[in-house]
Amino acid sequence: MKRYRWKIGFRTCIPTTARGSVIGNTIRPDRIERDIECIAACNDSTPDLGYSRPTFSEAWAAARDYVIEQASLAGAKSRIDAAGNVHIRPDRRTWEEPLWLSGSHLDSVPSGGKFDGVSGVVMPLELLRARIDPPLELVIFAEEEGTTFGMGLLGSRAWVGRVGRDDLARLTNRHGESYLEAGARYGVDPDRLDTERIDASRYRGFLELHPEQGLGLWNDNQAVAAVGTINGRRQYRIEVEGRGNHAGSTRMADRRDPVAAAAHVIAGIEVIGRDLSEGCGHTVMTVGRIAVEPNAINVIASRVGLSVDFRSPDRALLEEGERRLKRLTEEIAVDRGLNISISSEDDQPPEPLDAELVRRLVEAAESLGVRLPTVASGALHDAAIIAPYLPTSMLFIASRDGISHHPDEYSRIEDIATATRIAAATLS
Ligand SMILES: [Zn+2]
Repeated sequence: MKRYRWKIGFRTCIPTTARGSVIGNTIRPDRIERDIECIAACNDSTPDLGYSRPTFSEAWAAARDYVIEQASLAGAKSRIDAAGNVHIRPDRRTWEEPLWLSGSHLDSVPSGGKFDGVSGVVMPLELLRARIDPPLELVIFAEEEGTTFGMGLLGSRAWVGRVGRDDLARLTNRHGESYLEAGARYGVDPDRLDTERIDASRYRGFLELHPEQGLGLWNDNQAVAAVGTINGRRQYRIEVEGRGNHAGSTRMADRRDPVAAAAHVIAGIEVIGRDLSEGCGHTVMTVGRIAVEPNAINVIASRVGLSVDFRSPDRALLEEGERRLKRLTEEIAVDRGLNISISSEDDQPPEPLDAELVRRLVEAAESLGVRLPTVASGALHDAAIIAPYLPTSMLFIASRDGISHHPDEYSRIEDIATATRIAAATLS
């Protein structure tokens, strides 16, 4: 029943453009809106629970097929690389000639919104329809969010060679299938991974459009912004090892309670985050996951696991934060007579984006009468992975009330259209 519903939605969207025709020379918000709605109809969930497209699910594949089909109606060809990313170029362009690259992702967090990732895919799709043979390649990166296989940005990381066959064989989804196994149905091919990497000679640069996922632009009543830097991100796993025992018969003085120790660690992390954010407002530190063993009302726990997500555009602040985090856990461990270990799970440095491309975006916006401020990105995006290889920047569109990764996520169609016009004037 569930599958039927998105298939209906998917099908009704297809016949509205004529095969083989290049549709026009203007950017049309109505087409952008229809794309957003058609992709939203490719949903593993029910709309009242938001939008769910786990990577390599049927809903995800239907969304991908929709974009490939629409591009083909506009006269563009597609291919899928060894990591499962889709590449689309105008029929009359070769795969070798240097074009601009633009795109984002179609996978979502569970019960996410309609715009995250999707808006960055429909923007270049509209450019393929609005221009005749634009110097543009549309890319759909696989598994950006990290909620399906436990690690984000996998498609782009595999394309640049930062994760390999072994990593993709080790990472599994909730069905226990590895990325390679689940992706085999959708073009993933480990034998071609090493040879099908990004070739910088085929690209002039990369532009990703994305909702801001914060309050800045919406509160300033600003439609669009250029992104100058993407925050670095470090993630840690903290294990607090105490002594499990009976909650009734163990005197307070005899306890090695890891839950109480973890509470001190969490409170300390908030203090560190607040301190560091005074040096730079984009610096943030979050404990988002707690696992208590055995997690029972009448048992003093034996172990607590915590996750820490730490981001800043400033490398020195990332170093300082890591030092303080280690000192905090050492002090609490000594104080409470238990073991606290901390291990690094991810380390993505801050990524300054291409100043020349940002300048071109600002100029193009000016020529259209749009003021384009430059901002930093708090969230990590595929653009951060591509930036070391190609001149890269991003366009942010405003997110209503800063809400993202939630069914209420909303961005204005006219803001996507404005960003698309800026991109059209820049990527020529
Ligand atoms: Zn996204």
